[in-house]
Amino acid sequence: MSDLALGRRLMDRLEALARFSDDADGLERLYLSSSHKRAADALAGWMREAGLDVRLDAVGTLVGRYEGAAPGVPALLVGSHIDTVRQAGKYDGALGVLAALTAVEALAQSGERLPFAIEVVAFGDEEGVRFPSTLRGSRALAGTLDAATLDERDASGTSVRDALIAFGADPDRLAEAAYPRDAALGFVELHIEQGPVLERMSQPVGVVTAINGARRLSVVVQGTAGHAGTSPMNMRRDSLAAAAEMILSVERIAAEVRDVVATVGVVDVRPGAVNVIPGETRFTIDARAPDDAARDAVVERITTAIEGIAARRGLAVHISQTHAAPATVCDPTLIAALDAAARAVGHQPVHLPSGAGHDAMAMAALCPVAMLFVRCAGGVSHHPAESISLKDADAAMRVLLHFLRAYRA
Ligand SMILES: [Zn+2]
Repeated sequence: MSDLALGRRLMDRLEALARFSDDADGLERLYLSSSHKRAADALAGWMREAGLDVRLDAVGTLVGRYEGAAPGVPALLVGSHIDTVRQAGKYDGALGVLAALTAVEALAQSGERLPFAIEVVAFGDEEGVRFPSTLRGSRALAGTLDAATLDERDASGTSVRDALIAFGADPDRLAEAAYPRDAALGFVELHIEQGPVLERMSQPVGVVTAINGARRLSVVVQGTAGHAGTSPMNMRRDSLAAAAEMILSVERIAAEVRDVVATVGVVDVRPGAVNVIPGETRFTIDARAPDDAARDAVVERITTAIEGIAARRGLAVHISQTHAAPATVCDPTLIAALDAAARAVGHQPVHLPSGAGHDAMAMAALCPVAMLFVRCAGGVSHHPAESISLKDADAAMRVLLHFLRAYRA
C-alpha cells in the first residue's frame, strides 16, 4: 500500500545532515561548532526551499514557519535538536527536526494550509557536551533561560556568548527569543526511543507518557599533591583515591532504588602526572528517575556519602548542581491525538516513559508537550551504530502527518 516515499525522503535528509561533522571518522556536531553552523545553514536552505520563513534566535535555534490558513495564527511547534554527542549516531535529534520539515514539505507540495501555523524547530544545545549546563535553545524559547548561563565556558575557555557571536547569533537579544505564550499551541517532538521497548513489542512507534527528571552534579575533591616517591602512604591526602571510593558509592546507592539510575561519566585528575599524587580530582554525577522524590532522596544519600568519605580521609569536597529538571508529564490531549493518528495509519500505539532527557522538558514551561518515539535497532543510541529502518521512518512520517492534519487547537 505504501511506496515509502515519505520515509525515503526523511532517510535521505538524515544522511545529508549527518555529513556535517567535525570528526572525519565519525559524527560529532557540538553546540555552536563549525559543523553545527554548516548544518544549520544547510537546514535553513532546505526550509526556505519548502517555503518556510526562517529565523535564527539569540542562542542559535533555527526556526522555520509554515503559515496557517490565516496569517499570524498561533503555531504548533514541531522539532528536536541538531547537536550531537561525540561519536554520535545520525538519528538522535536530527530525526525530529527532519521529520517536521518533511511533513511540512508534504503539506506545502499539496498546497494544504491548516487552521494553525507549524514552526519547525532545530535546537542546538540538547546534549550538553560542550558547556556545563544544557537545553539553552528550548529554555530560551520557553523564556526560562538565565542570561548568566551565557557566560559559561567550554574546556578551551570560550564563552557561550563568544561562541554565539561566531555562530552568527546575537546573544544580546535573548529576551526576544522567548516565544509569546498565547502563540504556542504545543510542542511535539519525534525522537528515536534510545531503548529496547518498542523493538521488544514489535511496534514502530510509541507515545511517551512522561520524561524522567535528571540532576547533574559537579564534584571537586581537594587533596594535596605530592611526590609519588617520597610521601608515605599514611601521610597522603590523595584526591583520586577518595574520588574512586565516592564513585563506587554513587553506583551502590543508585542500584538500591528501583528505576533510579546514576552515572559518573567524567573524571578529571590534576595535575595528572605518573609520579605525582593527585591533588585535585573533579567528577560529574548524572542521576535520573521518573519520580522526582525518589531521585532527590538518592542524590541526598549520595551527597552525604561523598561528604562522609571526604571527612574520613581529611579532604575538602565541593559539590555543586549544574543541571536540574523535574520529571515532565506529557499532555493527555496530545497523547490521545498521537494515539489516534497511530491507529489511523495501522499501528498499535505503545505507551512508555522516556529515560533520556529531551528539549520537550524545557518546552513544557511554555506549552503542552508530547513525544513520539520511533523504534531504533537494539535500543542503541549515542553511538555510530544507532539506526532506524526505512519502514519505521515511513511509519513515523505517516503518524506525524495524520496527527497534523487532524489536530485542532
Ligand atoms: Zn536527542
